[in-house]
Amino acid sequence: MSSKELARRRARRRRFYLKRFAFLGGILLLTAGLAGLLLSCVLADPAETVAPSGEGRTSPAAPDAAETGEVSETASEPLPEGWERIDVPESALAEGTLVLVNGEAAFDASRAKTISVYEGKNRNYLVKNIYLSVTPETLEALNAWMEAFAGETGITDVNIVAGWRSLEDQTKLYDNAVAKKGQGYADTYLALPGHSEHHTGLAVDLDTYNVEDGTSGGFDGEGEYAWAVDHAWEYGFIQRYPPSKSGITGIDYESWHFRYVGLPHSCVMASENLCLEEYIELLRGYPFFGEHLSVCCLGVDYELYFCPKDRVIVPTAGRYTVCGNNVDGFVVVLKKTEPAA
Ligand SMILES: [Zn+2]
Repeated sequence: MSSKELARRRARRRRFYLKRFAFLGGILLLTAGLAGLLLSCVLADPAETVAPSGEGRTSPAAPDAAETGEVSETASEPLPEGWERIDVPESALAEGTLVLVNGEAAFDASRAKTISVYEGKNRNYLVKNIYLSVTPETLEALNAWMEAFAGETGITDVNIVAGWRSLEDQTKLYDNAVAKKGQGYADTYLALPGHSEHHTGLAVDLDTYNVEDGTSGGFDGEGEYAWAVDHAWEYGFIQRYPPSKSGITGIDYESWHFRYVGLPHSCVMASENLCLEEYIELLRGYPFFGEHLSVCCLGVDYELYFCPKDRVIVPTAGRYTVCGNNVDGFVVVLKKTEPAA
């Protein structure tokens, strides 16, 4: 890694911090009847409960049950005051910005609710055709990201060449790739039909377009375009297939493919260098009855925890979102503060 890259990563780390905390601590200490059973859950190592800002903590490795004293939960177990169980249909596993779609996890493209990029875009970038669509939240974030990029660099020739894809579209692409470039190429760069992130409407492929001669320049994320890659997380995007993670994602490096996951997820993934597979696994280590993940990102505090698919617990008051992981459960995100004015 170059010293420039190191400096950039350090600067990025300074902007936020991660901390883990035992959220049940106060409540359970007051609940004498349960204390004997659950105390091991509460009494996390004090060092773990203090936010190590900056460089101190490099990776919030998922704690195992023995480390956290995680208590297995049953559907009838009483909840602390201020929390409730809600019924969430299993189909909702495929909803939200954290859905995992890869070689193992499929996604039904017909579920995606998308809107036209052409109709909703700002002037800071281009789009391949009028049919290309993404989810509304992806479009809003794309507009903000490209506006910031254009403001910073003056560049407005980024061309969005792929968004949502139907099952038929992906099948055609895959079959064409096999026919023209061989099975090996197709398997390296293209997801099997039904297993493409483009089915979600949360993914975009970037290219560059030369308006003078009508040629495409590709998007390697280098040089002047590096700003867009480095700052993507601030707008909720991640480079989904980084070179260092191809063994996990199953897809070779794609400098052009960005996935919207939203804040604070992109923030944690960027700071901890996690691909989506790793991040989903990390979150499983923060169950409701255990430590929650506390994140400060761009001046906003969040609290996150994982719920198995049939046991979703949410606060009775306050703001929260429930994101399905498209595999086995939901991530609940509580927004604890608003950004400073
Ligand atoms: Zn793509």
